[in-house]
Amino acid sequence: MSVPESVEKRIEELREQIDYHSYRYYVLDSPEISDEEFDKLYKELEQLEDQYPQTITPDSPTQRVGKRPTGQLKEVNHSSRLYSLDNTYSEAEIRVFDDRVRRILGHDRVDYYAELKIDGLSIVLLYQKGRLVLAATRGDGVTGEDVTENARAIRSIPLKLREPVDIEVRGEVFLPKSEFEKINQDRSEKGLAVFANPRNAAAGTMRQLDSREVVRRRLDAFFYQIANPGDYGLNTQAETISMLRQIGLRYEPNGRLCHSVEEVISYWKRWRDRRHDLDYAVDGIVVKVDRIDLQDELGYTSRSPRWAIAFKFPAEQAETTLNDVSFQVGRLGTITPVAELEPVQLAGTTVKRASLHNFEYIRERDIRKGDTVVIEKAGDIIPQVVSVLSEKRTGLEKSISAPSSCPICEGPVGKEKKEDVAMKCLNPGCPAKTEKRLALFASRNSMDIEGLGEKTIERLVEAGMLSNLADIYKLKKEELLALGKGIGEKTAENLITMINRSRSRPLHRIIVGLGIPGVGVKIARDLANYFGSLSVLRDATQDELESVPGIGVELAEKIYSFLNSKIVKEELDILEHELEPEEEMKTVDKTLKGQSFVITGSFETLTRKGVEELVISRGGIFSSSVSKNTDYVVAGSSPGSKLDKAKKLGIRILSEKDFLALIDGDDT
Ligand code: AMP
Ligand code: ZN
Repeated sequence: MSVPESVEKRIEELREQIDYHSYRYYVLDSPEISDEEFDKLYKELEQLEDQYPQTITPDSPTQRVGKRPTGQLKEVNHSSRLYSLDNTYSEAEIRVFDDRVRRILGHDRVDYYAELKIDGLSIVLLYQKGRLVLAATRGDGVTGEDVTENARAIRSIPLKLREPVDIEVRGEVFLPKSEFEKINQDRSEKGLAVFANPRNAAAGTMRQLDSREVVRRRLDAFFYQIANPGDYGLNTQAETISMLRQIGLRYEPNGRLCHSVEEVISYWKRWRDRRHDLDYAVDGIVVKVDRIDLQDELGYTSRSPRWAIAFKFPAEQAETTLNDVSFQVGRLGTITPVAELEPVQLAGTTVKRASLHNFEYIRERDIRKGDTVVIEKAGDIIPQVVSVLSEKRTGLEKSISAPSSCPICEGPVGKEKKEDVAMKCLNPGCPAKTEKRLALFASRNSMDIEGLGEKTIERLVEAGMLSNLADIYKLKKEELLALGKGIGEKTAENLITMINRSRSRPLHRIIVGLGIPGVGVKIARDLANYFGSLSVLRDATQDELESVPGIGVELAEKIYSFLNSKIVKEELDILEHELEPEEEMKTVDKTLKGQSFVITGSFETLTRKGVEELVISRGGIFSSSVSKNTDYVVAGSSPGSKLDKAKKLGIRILSEKDFLALIDGDDT
């Protein structure tokens, strides 16, 4: 298919606009359009490229993520050595640095450019004619690793610069604090090892072999250096930063030209106290001689430049006693141990509690009640217990064990799977999980209550207006209005209408919304078909549940104990009266009851979904793979291996026509 000229033009236009707005957003920090408008442009481009794949170029803004994981990371030799920096921690040392610089240069006064030192991972980017061709980590300074695929997945790194230059730039990839916390919380809930700090998290992410994972983690990057600055007529570090900005690279915006060491020190003090306001971790400042000719004159030692130095902020660690351990229950029911500390001053705040992440974390570090522990603000975020000073033990310390019941609902506690590290409250109705349950119930596949999204649910739960599923149907317009902020007359009214409309959703959707472990849309349909009403389902014994085709012993047991747990029972007692489910689609017809179907290939008059619905609406069961329990395989054109298997097992095979005949009841 050839590409119409108008389409080609539009694609071009969209790419330019997207690049421009990314630049406004990431580099200039002054977006002109909203995120939604941006997404719209992006989606339009995606659609056009989908339709005309021959128009896709590697630097199109849609081409950030590789389709497949790459193998190992390749080694890259750097064009020139990447140095590390000398560190200082005190005013006295920074004055020594300044004295030495001025002595070597023979100047009374030297300008310094002071920048925040981002606590991330060094990266080098190579652009040819403005196109990103290589990204590499620092490695040992001589050889690094090729991380081009992953760098492309970082949205703030342009695939194409605003000018077609050949250039090598250096900078720092980092993970915003907010993302760092999210990832750690998520990892902790999943029982994975947590990252000690944003730097490790960024490094770990950059070395991922699958760039799709990198996109999910929202890495970011700042650039601060241009290799061979003389080639671009640059005279100072300040000019370097302007050039980075001009060609479209993101830079940390708080850098400052200082005319004396005193100014450097006050810059350092200001950011030492204010660094918590930033969404990225900074562990100090970097002081650079501003003039590039002077930098060259000063040169390098074997490991670092003589013209720059890192002036670090004091480590945010403190020692205190761990008095006790309490437990928090997360939204997924994960039980997180929290250290109750002897209050201690740390980075300007009094810290009384610190995260212990999970029980594995405690075991690995052998943390005990009564221990003297070191706590740290990792990249000044939530304080965590990093280690135990075991030499201070008295022998009275007590080991920490998981609680025997949920601290919120007193339900049973355990691991969901044997290999899990995370301990969870196993009571599906645990109020700690309320918000998640409500969100599922209101979601598209379930009761489909438009306007009752996670944000709104969170507010309603916080306001005490929702604490179980039945509460949804008790909400009043006036109550919603009383919440204020963003909930006006119209919104409130719409929400009530949508809630009322959901009262008549068919039974299988209600079942989906209950969030019974192991019960998705398909099983919910089977249950609805079999039992016909919520009250009959609720009365079902374990044996009856087991006799539903497709439901085994284990699942029957789960469903039974869920429906009969105290909290769910009480909730359903009320909920049942609020709902008047409309009939399942034509469930009256039970001609195919208990018969199991598999489809393969494609059909002329029916869609695969259509076949599925016809089967289910007649009480049949749908399965994705052929087994000896399969009754029929419906085979369309170009069928797959399922057909061979069916033949081997001697299962009845139906053409589309045969199938329609069967449905119409004239089975021969
Ligand atoms: P270190 O790893 O402690 O030797 O510190 C040197 C590293 O600090 C460099 O390799 C960079 O990765 C990083 N860094 C962060 N921000 C800057 C900055 N503004 N200028 C120079 N290096 C920086
Ligand atoms: Zn619980």
